[in-house]
Amino acid sequence: MPDCLFCKIVAGEIPAKIIKRAEDALAFRDIDARAPVHVLVIPTRHVAAVRDAKGADAEKLLGRLLAFAAQVASEQGLDSDGYRIVTNTGRNAGQSVDHLHFHVLGGRKLSWPPG
Ligand code: AMP
Repeated sequence: MPDCLFCKIVAGEIPAKIIKRAEDALAFRDIDARAPVHVLVIPTRHVAAVRDAKGADAEKLLGRLLAFAAQVASEQGLDSDGYRIVTNTGRNAGQSVDHLHFHVLGGRKLSWPPG
């Protein structure tokens, strides 16, 4: 998707602190970290949001991304104290980049419920 920020990160056209790479998924540090560990996990192909993950391979893609995010959390040392994986979808949730992404947050006590 030509004007998509995260597609440009996948293509290497915009720099990012990449911490894990696979053919179908990428993990990199959020530029505006809200926790000691704040990583974004995205599909390398463009999907706008979780509500747009439809069709024959949707469950495979979403399962894969969630498993990849859990691997990232584990590799970041978050298993023992715990962490949160969250995806914002659309305006009411405050989605600001229209390329599906899971936030992996940890390294401190996280408040709940969200505001
Ligand atoms: P959301 O608000 O859920 O759509 O999350 C988008 C996230 O992308 C925000 O937490 C931003 O800080 C993050 N972000 C925006 N631009 C970049 C960038 N160039 N590199 C890394 N993270 C970014």
